[in-house]
Amino acid sequence: MVTDAEKSMAATLAAFFVAHRAEIVAPLLAAYKPTTGKQAHHAPSVQPGAAQCACHACKSPAGGGLDLEVQQELDRLLLKLDITSFEDLPAQVQADLLKVAKSGALLGAEQLASDMSAEAYDSLVNLVNERAVALAADRSAAMVGMKWVDGELIPNPNTLWRIDEGTRALIRSDVSQALQEGWSNSSLADTLMDPKHAAFSEARANMVARTELAKMDMQANTAAWKESGLVQEKIWLLAQNPCDQCTANAEQGAIPIDDEFDGGEMEPPQHPNCSCDLAPVVGD
Ligand SMILES: [Zn+2]
Ligand SMILES: [Zn+2]
Repeated sequence: MVTDAEKSMAATLAAFFVAHRAEIVAPLLAAYKPTTGKQAHHAPSVQPGAAQCACHACKSPAGGGLDLEVQQELDRLLLKLDITSFEDLPAQVQADLLKVAKSGALLGAEQLASDMSAEAYDSLVNLVNERAVALAADRSAAMVGMKWVDGELIPNPNTLWRIDEGTRALIRSDVSQALQEGWSNSSLADTLMDPKHAAFSEARANMVARTELAKMDMQANTAAWKESGLVQEKIWLLAQNPCDQCTANAEQGAIPIDDEFDGGEMEPPQHPNCSCDLAPVVGD
């Protein structure tokens, strides 16, 4: 079930990227003017956590070694990206999210079946099936930094891993390099329009689908546990080769079902490509 939904959502996202990448980058390209005589002292390092440049001209704090003027121009250009088309995505991905929300809710209920009467189990399954619709709607909107209120999408800037913000971040590195090295407008256009560009690639579509559906699955599990009234606590189960944040979540042991883990998430995934799991603590 998850695999079919994943394929379907990845295909939807990949098609979306192909259909919209030109309109997304067009306003940025229209505003981009190659600078002359502003050659970089060095290869730009804009990746978070990248080694600091040793060049004395780049000792300014923050900004990854970018001088203030370049930084300001970069910010101005990134704001030009047209990310309004991302608002089409929630409706397109909702059916796949709903499939996974329903299977996740059912699985969450099944885990508790031996602790419940057949009657209580049946009513739990009905209840969480209804809740799954709302969960899928919430998650689909959150993917583009929105939420549904009375059938309308309105901004919800606090959501994590937004596809539109992720796109901005992935484009940022190329525009920064273009500004510093004085690329022509058409070189920047070629780079941004490359089908393999990280922002619009099939690999990214797959990653987003996998991560979003994993989140949906876990949220639906947890919703079923909560509705059952049998589960007061949850435990973060680490995947292989975990990062420090996931490790910290797991080291908390059992925490109340309504609490956030150390990393600020209610359930895995903690971040894109996280494959940690969650277990309910039943009874005492
Ligand atoms: Zn992790
Ligand atoms: Zn993890």
